[in-house]
Amino acid sequence: MPFRKCNNVIEEVSAIIDGEAGAIACARFFGHLAMCDQCTRYFEQFKEVRAAAAHVGPEDLPTDFDHVMEDVLARIAEESKG
Ligand SMILES: [Zn+2]
Repeated sequence: MPFRKCNNVIEEVSAIIDGEAGAIACARFFGHLAMCDQCTRYFEQFKEVRAAAAHVGPEDLPTDFDHVMEDVLARIAEESKG
């Protein structure tokens, strides 16, 4: 059963990238990505940011990263109304 909410993806994304998430959490995480373009983009950008974080500062984040974050956060707000 994939995660139902984008918020779950955001909570787990660090653990997934760090390899700390369990097999079930991974399956649920990627199950959600398969049905959610916004979280797929969020995950891709998060990985890029993590990969870059070792040698760049926050000012070097992808230019549309804030926009992606806004999309995801807006979606979470919608879900929490529901
Ligand atoms: Zn999502």
